[in-house]
Amino acid sequence: VVNEAEVVSALFMKGIMATVNETLSRDAVKLVCEQFEVEVLEVEDEQIETMAKKTNEFISESDLEKLKPRPPVVTIMGHVDHGKTSLLDYIRKEKVAAGEAGGITQAIGAYRVPVEVEGETHTCVFLDTPGHEAFSAMRARGAKVTDIAVIVVAADDGVRPQTLEAISHAKAAEVPIVVAINKVDKDGASVEKVMQELSAQAQLYPEEWGGDVAMVPVSAKKGTGVDELLEAIMLVAEVSEFSANPDREAKGTVIEATLDRKRGPLATVVVQCGTLRRGDVMLCGDAFGKVRALLDHTGKSLKEAGPSEAVQVMGLSGVPAAGEVFEIRPDLDDARSKAEERGYTQRTQRLANLAGEGKITLQSLAAAAAVAEEGLEFGRLNLILKVDVAGSAEAIRSALEALPQDTIGLRFLLSMTGDVSISDIDLAQASEAVVLGFNVQVPPAAEAHSKETGIEVKQYNVIYDLVDDIRKAMEGMMEPEE
Ligand code: GDP
Repeated sequence: VVNEAEVVSALFMKGIMATVNETLSRDAVKLVCEQFEVEVLEVEDEQIETMAKKTNEFISESDLEKLKPRPPVVTIMGHVDHGKTSLLDYIRKEKVAAGEAGGITQAIGAYRVPVEVEGETHTCVFLDTPGHEAFSAMRARGAKVTDIAVIVVAADDGVRPQTLEAISHAKAAEVPIVVAINKVDKDGASVEKVMQELSAQAQLYPEEWGGDVAMVPVSAKKGTGVDELLEAIMLVAEVSEFSANPDREAKGTVIEATLDRKRGPLATVVVQCGTLRRGDVMLCGDAFGKVRALLDHTGKSLKEAGPSEAVQVMGLSGVPAAGEVFEIRPDLDDARSKAEERGYTQRTQRLANLAGEGKITLQSLAAAAAVAEEGLEFGRLNLILKVDVAGSAEAIRSALEALPQDTIGLRFLLSMTGDVSISDIDLAQASEAVVLGFNVQVPPAAEAHSKETGIEVKQYNVIYDLVDDIRKAMEGMMEPEE
């Protein structure tokens, strides 16, 4: 028997950063199996791979026959003050509460919205925490909950730095984007200008101009266009064919959790596959317990919750972290021993982190990419570039792009002006990237976050030095070290 810590450390030795409850890529699994001399059985490879996107990656061969459509899970992101909260409020009040006796009594962090399309009622699930920080923090823990990102851009203000950040986060997570061009009721609002800016600065092209991104003019204040926005979301969902197997034990992700004085730990989870039932034994990080109650956003107690449903769970032994993946275990003894083991592994992992291992640095990423030499998929070096002026970004990008990339490619997740932010570091952590700063500052909060997460931020003042470092790292990849 090989324990989790051994697998994590084996992966680390291969240059792959993984946490205990991370979903591994096929190639990473192969590597580990080779290392421990375990035979890999590959089943219906391609089919599973294409299905993984639609099912949020919780899928195995036995699910293939039983997949059923499920509602999309949507997150709203965008620049501060562009109207994320207003849009969520409008949808919550007008589209959810209006349809329910008693309204919403429980803020559980997510709610179901009925959407009428061509006379039929479909459902869409909104995560109630706006902002890409939440999105990336979850992804950094290995959770992929969101199916569709709605990017809100105010029509009187246009594309701003956090708009671009949000788009980078969605693109890095390979989540389809729908744009809500908000505040169209205001003087000086220009939908056209927003479309132009999105095309030029973010390579998002509106459908009206032959592109493939739905951009819907809305007013979160007056409610104009919100139905059209919901329809556009459902259309993307339809094309994406999101699905899951409801007929198995549940698996999913925690989106919020708190400790309630009377009721103990409460966790809101999104079920991503299977069906969660009252009485199930849940294991969630190092918390576990028999599910005593499942509550929806009206406070109603449910017997069960299927794929894409968000419910509040009562009965856990502790408060799990947002982004933690939950699973169902056969009985309490089993769950308890797994939880204890995990608590132990997580502590040792934290120690290992403190001891300076498990960091994402140019070097460790180079080591990970070296595996590409063996024909695996890690031959990509993800970069986040923050610069003083737009001209530097262009100069650096073109110098880097001129480096030979036949074996290892460079991928820019973000290149923009401005100081290194906490959100850059979250994006780096979620996407395994290094942050390169050119003539910019790293404010103390970002510096602290970089230390805490082990994400390297490299600072430069001379373009040559930056390019030379990356070149060396890439060459290192191409000639794996002894
Ligand atoms: P967030 O920071 O993105 O969550 O933005 P908020 O939802 O807090 O909105 C910021 C400000 O813009 C608030 O004063 C809102 O009342 C206002 N606002 C939001 N949407 C609209 C809109 O469609 N029209 C107008 N006129 N104002 C809006």
